Amino acid sequence: MARTITATPSPPMRYIEPHAHMVSRVTDDYERLALAGCVAVCEPAFWAGFDRSSAAGFYDYFRQLTVTEPLRAAKYGLQHYCWLCINPKESEDVKLATEVIELIPPFIKNTNVLGIGEIGLNKNSRNELKVLEMHVDLAARLGQLVLVHTPHLEDKLKGTRLILDVLKNERRLPPERIIIDHVEEHTVRLVLDAGHWAGMTLYPETKCTAARAVDILETVGREKLWLNSACDWGVSDPLAVPKAALEIKRRGHPEAQIEDVLFNNPKKFLSQSPNFKLD
Ligand SMILES: [Zn+2]
Repeated sequence: MARTITATPSPPMRYIEPHAHMVSRVTDDYERLALAGCVAVCEPAFWAGFDRSSAAGFYDYFRQLTVTEPLRAAKYGLQHYCWLCINPKESEDVKLATEVIELIPPFIKNTNVLGIGEIGLNKNSRNELKVLEMHVDLAARLGQLVLVHTPHLEDKLKGTRLILDVLKNERRLPPERIIIDHVEEHTVRLVLDAGHWAGMTLYPETKCTAARAVDILETVGREKLWLNSACDWGVSDPLAVPKAALEIKRRGHPEAQIEDVLFNNPKKFLSQSPNFKLD
């Protein structure tokens, strides 16, 4: 008599992409994310690759983030969330930044908005710092989560310290409602010790490789850390997060650890926003 095979296959990986600039990506990338097990993609407001000439450019961008992208993502069963701000790279012009920040409160009412981000510093300039403080004040007034971009390479450590000082001085924002992104080996502990969450960005050329990110996880633990691709219009990989999961697996860590870093952690942080609800 034939015997019934009862072994259940392991469930496919599910994960959250917490930082991706999908306006810069083709629709096929949404399909690839969905096929890889992504259930939700979160898109911080960012530099478009060129400086926008007026606040009107940001108004259109915010409409794209709150109206167009959720519809594009939904075609592949993906939930799309976003963060709003004027990014640090365009924050040198304080007058423009002031006008853009004034545009944000009405957009916060959209149900896919998670908070204010990615704010932060690019060249650690005085004007960038002023605009960072304006954003932090806005987030505190509106009770929003905050996502912070840290500068790259030689400016990273100094920039991270400056950002942490600004955040420490804003007592209305609890540290656990802020994530500092693009951390590396020399900044991750500073961020976690201040009570914030930390994001590791997986980039083919700059920022973290999967191997470095997993080294960091093995060193500092996986509590309050997430992984993201930060894919944008430049050289970047929308599938960097599931590829890092392969690296975690290759090193012999249990599946539960992958689930924590790729799904449970972003879910826990993002669920502090009432708008973040997974279907
Ligand atoms: Zn980004």
